[in-house]
Amino acid sequence: MKYTKIKHLSHPHDDLMLVDSPQAPYKCDGCKELGFRRCYQCEDCNFHLHEECAMPDSSAFHPLFRKCDFRFYENAPGNRARYCDACGKDVLGFVYQCLHKEAHDLHPCCMKLPRTLIGDGVKLHLSDMVSSKCQKCGSKEISKGFRGWSYESTCGKYCYHVACVKDLVIENWRKGYFDGHNDVNDQILSNMAIQIKVPNEDIVQQSEGSSYRSKKASKYWKIAKLALKLIISAIFGDPISGFTALIESVVSS
Ligand SMILES: [Zn+2]
Ligand SMILES: [Zn+2]
Ligand SMILES: [Zn+2]
Ligand SMILES: [Zn+2]
Ligand SMILES: [Zn+2]
Repeated sequence: MKYTKIKHLSHPHDDLMLVDSPQAPYKCDGCKELGFRRCYQCEDCNFHLHEECAMPDSSAFHPLFRKCDFRFYENAPGNRARYCDACGKDVLGFVYQCLHKEAHDLHPCCMKLPRTLIGDGVKLHLSDMVSSKCQKCGSKEISKGFRGWSYESTCGKYCYHVACVKDLVIENWRKGYFDGHNDVNDQILSNMAIQIKVPNEDIVQQSEGSSYRSKKASKYWKIAKLALKLIISAIFGDPISGFTALIESVVSS
């Protein structure tokens, strides 16, 4: 059941309204992570909550942490600095934390990431044990000894850390590419795709800095972009416009 209006203890004013397209990317006042999608928003102040932060489950399980029994907290218990076991980023607000002594933490948005993403011709699976290197950072690990979660295509050619896609979006947001947009349009996506590493050398050579692009390379880029788009949607919400056009361009090639 969806509520269009809620009250939330962490917010001083009256009602928070569910809005479909909030103004530009917002910072969630619950988990402190960025969001683009539907959220609960206050009309009187600049207060936002992700849907999953506004209405969390009091307890939860995750298939990638089979032995963990998670609880939702507005402030994680204990004083030490915490990081999310999915994306490796700091936990600064709302969090799911398990009952283990060496507790695991998950951002509410990371907890809710879909296991499978399907776009035209691309199927990506969420995994903590990928076989390929991430196309953004070129490594299997986010930091030494820590892999975090990735989305990997069934064919294994396309693979991105959740953490790296977050970085990519945040970098581009800081550069102002999202200014006034609450969607990830094709231009933004192309800007981001430039920052991606390509595993296959001859594809790199064919696609770098020349107006000529082989069919193989351009197909590769289209799928790489589509995969990226799917992951961005999964992490940050459903950036609608541009998506249909992108799918069409993949289909028509
Ligand atoms: Zn949030
Ligand atoms: Zn308010
Ligand atoms: Zn645990
Ligand atoms: Zn996270
Ligand atoms: Zn990476």
